[in-house]
Amino acid sequence: MRRVLLWMAANGWLRNRIPRLWFARRAVRRFMPGEDLESALAAGVGFQVEGLGTLYTRLGENLTRIEEANAIADHYRGVLDAIRERRLDGEISIKLTQLGFDLDLERTFHHATSLAAQAAESGRTFWIDMEGSPYTESTIAFYERMKAALPNTGICLQAYLKRTAADVQRLLPLRPEIRLVKGAYAEPASVAYQSRHDVDANYLALCVLILHAIKAGTRIRLALGTHDVRLIEQVAEHAAALGLPKTAFEVQMLYGIRMDQQRRLAREGYVVRDLIAYGEAWYPWYMRRLAERPANVLFALRQIVG
Ligand SMILES: Cc1cc2nc3c(=O)[nH]c(=O)nc-3n(C[C@H](O)[C@H](O)[C@H](O)COP(=O)(O)OP(=O)(O)OC[C@H]3O[C@@H](n4cnc5c(N)ncnc54)[C@H](O)[C@@H]3O)c2cc1C
Repeated sequence: MRRVLLWMAANGWLRNRIPRLWFARRAVRRFMPGEDLESALAAGVGFQVEGLGTLYTRLGENLTRIEEANAIADHYRGVLDAIRERRLDGEISIKLTQLGFDLDLERTFHHATSLAAQAAESGRTFWIDMEGSPYTESTIAFYERMKAALPNTGICLQAYLKRTAADVQRLLPLRPEIRLVKGAYAEPASVAYQSRHDVDANYLALCVLILHAIKAGTRIRLALGTHDVRLIEQVAEHAAALGLPKTAFEVQMLYGIRMDQQRRLAREGYVVRDLIAYGEAWYPWYMRRLAERPANVLFALRQIVG
């Protein structure tokens, strides 16, 4: 089921058709408050009252015309202004291919650094998402280049990739901001662990590696980008055993998923951020959410019958 859904996520023919179906539009609302920025910000205001920080991402990836990247960068400049004006504890998270990474590296670098510089003015992090494995090396190299100029840049790393332990070691000297996720794409066994057990074990091992570096005095911002509460508890136990405070790491989860746990963790003193996605180009992103939990497909199908 996961493979089929991930294949559907990458299929251009379906991408043009499924979003037009009314029941698909209704089902996606479970994972996003609305297609427009205003809905995302309104949700962020509500979360802030409950003690949750936020991350904002406008859905879209793999641009085909570089001119679109200019408009996307302008959009995010407006998002940063709006976050600041509304005094939200909010940050932005972006896929490099949405800024033209496939088309023009230097223009992507220009856009990313200008957004990170704007985020730095109000002490916020500019997060880089991680895409499929053909982009891993180039995204990490891009991060290294950015981090040298703008320390407030964070990167997402994927625990299902076998290379990630080496990538963490490579990035530690940069005092990185790392969001660790399990990984959302269909990857071959040559590069990625295939079983849940192996991915989870690597996730924990990577966290322990980073916690030890934090304990040794390296300044690292570690964000656990997962809804796996059992795994979060295991990381918390390791942190406590090392004598680190609850704020040694933070938790980041997606809008609409395990909201009860997001609120509970925040009440218990953990730093929690909810990633709010919005925008019209939700199809591949939504299909990856279905692939993560095939029970969501039943939820989507139920929208057809009301
Ligand atoms: C803040 C954030 C940013 C991310 N950024 C990236 C990125 O840049 N690149 C990337 O490859 N991936 C990214 N991901 C996705 C990530 O790789 C996983 O695909 C996703 O988080 C599901 O895995 P999990 O860690 O929650 O664990 P799982 O083991 O999949 O899930 C643990 C439990 O969480 C619940 N759950 C998980 N997913 C869902 C869902 N879709 N619907 C309902 N319940 C669910 C279920 O109860 C499940 O049992 C991001 C995830 C988060 C939270």
